[in-house]
Amino acid sequence: MPIDATQPYDDSNIFAKILRGELPCNKVYEDEHALAFHDINPMAPVHILVIPKGGYVSWDDFSERASDAEIAGFTRAVGKVARDGAMVTQGYRLLANIGKRAGQEVGHLHVHIFGGQPLGPMLA
Ligand code: C5P
Repeated sequence: MPIDATQPYDDSNIFAKILRGELPCNKVYEDEHALAFHDINPMAPVHILVIPKGGYVSWDDFSERASDAEIAGFTRAVGKVARDGAMVTQGYRLLANIGKRAGQEVGHLHVHIFGGQPLGPMLA
């Protein structure tokens, strides 16, 4: 069930549990500001999620409350994961579902990275 992204951050969400080490993930990359792991239910041959370490529900929440260092660190981490996967040669897609209409299921901001095959029209 999609979440209401206007609600305050709730640290009982599944990605907060992964960040606290209470649940496992298949880690791709980690630094001070971000964690990246393979999506448990991949929708493409490459399907990686990148999450900020701080507790933010949505992109607008993140852009408003996060420090410049967190925003820069997270943005660079997304780029690094794509670069380390050599994804730019064939192309890749970044996606963030925010709130009800987009079908956001987990109330901790996450960017999907898709690749490894032709990805089709964006809103198909
Ligand atoms: O953008 P949205 O909130 O819909 O995506 C949540 C994503 O988190 C899904 O792609 C789901 O497969 C993934 N997920 C995961 N590991 C979990 C729970 C959900 O990779 N333990």
